[in-house]
Amino acid sequence: MADSLFVDITTPNGRQYQQPTGLFINNEFRPSSSGQTIVSLDPATDKPIATVHAATAEDVDAAVQAAKAALSHSTWKLLPATERGQLMGRLADLMEENRELFAAIDAWDNGKPYQVALTEDLTEAITTIRYYSGWADKTFGQTISTTPQKFAYTIRQPIGVVGQIIPWNYPLSMATWKLGPALACGNTVVIKAAEQTPLSILVLATLIKKAGFPPGVVNIINGYGKEAGAALVQHPLVDKIAFTGSTATAREIMKMAAGTLKNITLETGGKSPLIVYPDADLEQAVKWSHFGIMSNKGEICTATSRIFVHRSILTTFLEKFKEAIETTSKIGDQWDENTYQGPQVTRAQYERVLAYIETAKQEGATLVTGGKPYTPKDEKNAKGYFIEPTVFTDVTDDMRICKEEVFGPVVVILPFDSEEESVRRANDTTYGLGAAVFTTDLERAHRVAADIEAGMVWINSSQDCDPRIPFGGVKQSGIGRELGEAGLEAYSQVKAVHVNMGSRL
Ligand code: ADP
Repeated sequence: MADSLFVDITTPNGRQYQQPTGLFINNEFRPSSSGQTIVSLDPATDKPIATVHAATAEDVDAAVQAAKAALSHSTWKLLPATERGQLMGRLADLMEENRELFAAIDAWDNGKPYQVALTEDLTEAITTIRYYSGWADKTFGQTISTTPQKFAYTIRQPIGVVGQIIPWNYPLSMATWKLGPALACGNTVVIKAAEQTPLSILVLATLIKKAGFPPGVVNIINGYGKEAGAALVQHPLVDKIAFTGSTATAREIMKMAAGTLKNITLETGGKSPLIVYPDADLEQAVKWSHFGIMSNKGEICTATSRIFVHRSILTTFLEKFKEAIETTSKIGDQWDENTYQGPQVTRAQYERVLAYIETAKQEGATLVTGGKPYTPKDEKNAKGYFIEPTVFTDVTDDMRICKEEVFGPVVVILPFDSEEESVRRANDTTYGLGAAVFTTDLERAHRVAADIEAGMVWINSSQDCDPRIPFGGVKQSGIGRELGEAGLEAYSQVKAVHVNMGSRL
């Protein structure tokens, strides 16, 4: 039971702060109505960090009612768009002031290296809020002439109360991808964090209030997916659901959202291909393909987890890929400056990844390197969820290890003989999130980029992501786009107003 709404915490890297633990509704923290809780664990040590309140369906209702009331309240509805943008700008400034604290919390909660959280996650999170603060007063409708007496104009309006459900791999940054465009467009929000990483978003809640957002505009809750998440998706006053997570959960959400025909955007799983052609710059291809699957412990929805390499360069590529693992993939806890790969986020996730490794072995794939838990040198991390970076070859396209998303530091490397074959096999998946192409042939680069079934393609790179550039998937990797101008489409709707100026016709 979380008996207090704030606890005093010192992070392993020495930051002292007050961790809120309650449900943030109407700009105030409150306990869960049932007293149920979530215990957040440090994945490097398996020890508890903090216990937070978990929302029930009744709490979700309170949060949605708050968001509904705020939607029509003059402090938000009539707030000039420029001032809305300024509020968001203030939030970005406050996040910047707390950059080190946020990085420490997310590193601790999720297992990623502190330096990565500090320089990559936080930069992305702050930039996203700042980017969308600029859009707040730059979304307009159109004027459309029809006849001499009549015309119409369109107004871009918020969708209403938006329910947002986020995952645990980039806790704070995923929250900003959802909050940025929703707030820029004037919606009100109930956002639910993932139960594996509940902490940083509650600190963000304190900044929402400090920045001056009116009560009820942003409500932040923790809770279990099947209870709080499902209650949010089914709530009749929620106009839209935006979700990032697994394809299986997205399927459930789509079914539940059908009850009230909710507007939905989904960003789900992937089994993204990376293709290396014989004319590629091999050093670059190795560097990026290692980064594309081994960074963030492979817990990336766009991880390039199927690497197709032209048969003529396969042996050299494999040698260099193994070298990259040996020199780069240093495993350790979040606080060691040399750590490249931290522990998997939870024991469940760790076991899931190890089970996939066993399946691959049973299916007859050849283990090139890794394939087992990593035993840390430091005794305090003995119970951590560490896994060695793992590479399989001799994999066929129908093996589970080649078809299913592992979400860990596990990659399959597959030979191919022709461009046609590489594209056909890259597209032979139910997913379509990211894809990467390595070649120095300009024509081939753009030809393949056009032919690959994916929402995003990297040419001679992997995992580039920027708030200005649309992000999302095709096929079973999702519906709709986040980020960029395209991200605004998901959070606004167009109303047409027909005007009759003449009384003669
Ligand atoms: P993973 O399997 O990687 O943990 P999920 O898709 O289950 O990913 O979780 C992503 C988010 O979806 C989390 O915030 C989780 O609480 C939420 N969630 C899980 N199940 C449901 C559900 N049935 N309805 C709504 N949200 C859910």
